Amino acid sequence: MSVYEHEVYEYEVYEYEVKALLSEAGVPVPRGVVVDDLDFGPAGELAEPLVLKAFGPGLVHKSDAGAVVLGLRAADLPAAAAEMRSRLPDLAGFLVEEQAAAGVELIVGVVRDSAFGPVLLAGLGGVWTEALRDTALRLCPVSERDARRMLASLRGAPLLYGHRGTPPVDVDAVVKLLMAVGGPGGLWERLELGEFELNPVIAAPAGVMAVDARYLPAEPSRLPSEPSDLLVESSDLSAEPPDRAAYPASAGFLPLFEPKAVAVVGASATRPNFGNMFLDFYKAAGIPLVAVHPEADQVAGVRAVPSLAHADVDYALVAVPAERCPEVVRQAAGVPFVQVMSGGFGEAGRAELEGELVAAAQAAGTRLLGPNCMGVYCPRGRQTFVGGGMGPPGSVALISQSGGLAGEVIKVGERRGLAFSRVVTVGNAADVTPAELLRWLAHDPETAAVGLYLEDPRDGRELFEALRAADLPVVLLVGGRSGQGQEAAASHTGGMVSDRRIWETVAEQTGAALVSGQDDLIGVLAFFQAHGSRVTDGDGVLVVGPSGGASVLAADAFDLAGVRLDPLPGDALDDLRGLRVAASGNPLEVPVGPLGRAGLVPEVIDAIMRRRPYRDVVAHVNVQAFFTYGDAAEPLYAYARALAGAQDALPRTRVTLVTRNGECAPPGVEDEVRRIAAAAGIPVYRTMEAAAVAVAAGGRCGTA
Ligand code: ADP
Ligand code: MG
Repeated sequence: MSVYEHEVYEYEVYEYEVKALLSEAGVPVPRGVVVDDLDFGPAGELAEPLVLKAFGPGLVHKSDAGAVVLGLRAADLPAAAAEMRSRLPDLAGFLVEEQAAAGVELIVGVVRDSAFGPVLLAGLGGVWTEALRDTALRLCPVSERDARRMLASLRGAPLLYGHRGTPPVDVDAVVKLLMAVGGPGGLWERLELGEFELNPVIAAPAGVMAVDARYLPAEPSRLPSEPSDLLVESSDLSAEPPDRAAYPASAGFLPLFEPKAVAVVGASATRPNFGNMFLDFYKAAGIPLVAVHPEADQVAGVRAVPSLAHADVDYALVAVPAERCPEVVRQAAGVPFVQVMSGGFGEAGRAELEGELVAAAQAAGTRLLGPNCMGVYCPRGRQTFVGGGMGPPGSVALISQSGGLAGEVIKVGERRGLAFSRVVTVGNAADVTPAELLRWLAHDPETAAVGLYLEDPRDGRELFEALRAADLPVVLLVGGRSGQGQEAAASHTGGMVSDRRIWETVAEQTGAALVSGQDDLIGVLAFFQAHGSRVTDGDGVLVVGPSGGASVLAADAFDLAGVRLDPLPGDALDDLRGLRVAASGNPLEVPVGPLGRAGLVPEVIDAIMRRRPYRDVVAHVNVQAFFTYGDAAEPLYAYARALAGAQDALPRTRVTLVTRNGECAPPGVEDEVRRIAAAAGIPVYRTMEAAAVAVAAGGRCGTA
C-alpha cells in the first residue's frame, strides 16, 4: 500500500508516516491518502464514511485543535478542509482515511525507561485513557504469553472477552499487534524510540486497526546516559583492557566472599579511623590479615607492608581519602578483588574521579567493589563488615546497594533466625554490578535464596536478564520507587510509566517477589530459608487458629497480599465433626489456648489434608491468651511441638506459624517457640500481615 507518499518532514514524524511504517510492520491501519487542499481526487478510492485529519508542525493532539472530523462523504471533504485551514493556518496537509467500525478502543505504546529500556504498554484507550488509567506494562521484547497476560490483567478485560451480550473482540489480532510492536524483532527494536503510541487501536470482533499513531523520536537530551561509558571517556588515563584472565571464570566471585587473606589499606598507626574498625572486625573474625601503611611495619598489632604490591592477598579493603584511592588501586595487580570503602565519588558529583578509579582497577586487572561501599559478609569465609561477631553460615544471600541497610538486615535477620551464605554491598557499583553478582549467586551451591536491595540500577536491562535467568527465589526491595520515573511527556504512555510500575512489571516478568519494606524482605527470606527446598504438591492456603476477629482479619490480610483462601473440601466437614470441631470455613476456627488440647490443630490439619492437600498451612495463635491467668509457657511450647510434628508428617506442605501478640509473653518465650518451630523448618511471624506477604511470595516458588 503506497498511499502514504508525501514529502518527508525534517523535524516531525507525521501520523501518515508512522502509519506507513506500521503497515509495513504488519500492523493494520485504515486505508488512507495524503492530499493538499486543491485536489481531493485520490480520496475517491476510499470507502465512505471518511475521516479528515490535518497534520502540521506542533499539531499533536488533533482533536483538541479541531483537526479531526469523522463521518464524512467524499463530497464533504473540500468544505471541511477549508474550514480547518481557516482555523489552523500552519497546517501542512491532510490525511483522509476510511473510518473504522466501532469497537473497544485500546492504547498501545512503547516508552524508553531510563533504567530498563523499552517498555510496552497496553490498556484501555481513546477517551478512557486518562480517566481510567487501566494499563499493563511489560519490558520488551514481550512473549505472546506476556501479551495475553497483559490484556487479561486489565480491569476492563471483560470488554475484550465479551461482556453483557456484546461479542468478544478479536483478541488474537490484538495479541498479534502487540507482538508486532513489542515482540522479538518488533517496532521497538527498529525505532530510535523516544515514545511511540497508538491511541486508539480499535479492537472489533473481526480484527483490529490502529487509527491513530504518534512517534516522538528520542531527543539526545532525553536519552539515558551511560554513566560508566562517560566515566571511562572522561578519564585522562589511558586504560588498558581489563585482564580478566588473571582470575579464572570458574572461581568467579568466590575470593570476594571467601578470601584466603585480606589487606586493609588506610588504617592508622596513631589515630584509629574507619580502616582500624575494619581491621578490628577482621581480627575478630580470625582471617589472615595484613595492613598497608607507608611507614609503619605494624598497625594495631597487625603486620604492615608499604603497598598492595607487597601484599599477598586476594581481597583488599581501601579506606583512604577518595583522591588517593586510584593510586592505591593501581598497585593492586594480582589482587583479584579490591573494595573501596571511601565515599566522595559519583555519589558526591565526582564522576571523573570515579572514572579514574575504574580505570585504575582495569589497569591493575582487579575487580572493584564500590566505591562508597561497606563490603562483604560471609561467615563461611570469615569475611565481615559488622561488629559483634558473626552468625552461623547459612543459605540466604543478600545484594545491597546500601551498606547500612545490609548491616541491619544481617543483624535483625540473624536475630530472627536467618543464616547467611553471602552478603555483598555494592555502593556505587562502578565495576562489579548487582546483576553480575546475582548471576553468580544463582549458581552458588551454598545459596538457596537471594534478597536484593536496590535504589538505582545502573544496569537495569542486565539486571532484568539476570533476574529472569535466576532459577532460585529472589526477593526484591527497591528504595525510591515513589518518585515518578518519567516526566509526563506529550504522550499518555510516558505519563503512565512510573518507577513503581516498572518494578512491579520487572517482578511480574521475572518471578521475583517484590516487597515494600525491610521487615518483609527479612520475612520473605526467612520463608524461603525454611521452605525453599520443599517441593509442594497441593495448592491453595489453609489458615487455622482461634475464632473471632483475628480469624476474620486473617482472611483480609491474605486477600490484601493477593492470596485466595480456598474453601474446605465438603467431605472434610464430617471428619471435623468427628473431632468435635464445628467451624467449617477457611480460615478455620479451632480452639487454641492454654486449656485446649495441643494436638487438636495437627489432627484437624491432618483430617483436611487427607481430603485435599493445601500447599501452605498457616497456623496462628494468640500468645497473650496463654499468659492471662499466669505463666502458661509450657502449653504454648506443647502447641509449637505439636505443630512441628504436623510439619514432619507433611513433608510436601509448607507450615507457617503466626504468634500474634507475642509482646505479652515473658522474655525468652517467643525465642523458644521460634526455636521449636525452626527445628522443624517452620518460619514464625509476629503478625498475620507479615505471614501473608511471605506466603504470597512463596506462592510462586517450589510447586512441583
Ligand atoms: P488525536 O490526535 O486527538 O488523538 P485521533 O487520530 O486519535 O486524534 O482521532 C480522534 C478520535 O477519532 C479517535 O480517538 C477515534 O475515536 C476517532 N478516529 C480517528 N481516526 C479514525 C478512523 N480512521 N476510524 C475510526 N475512528 C477514528
Ligand atoms: Mg489519538
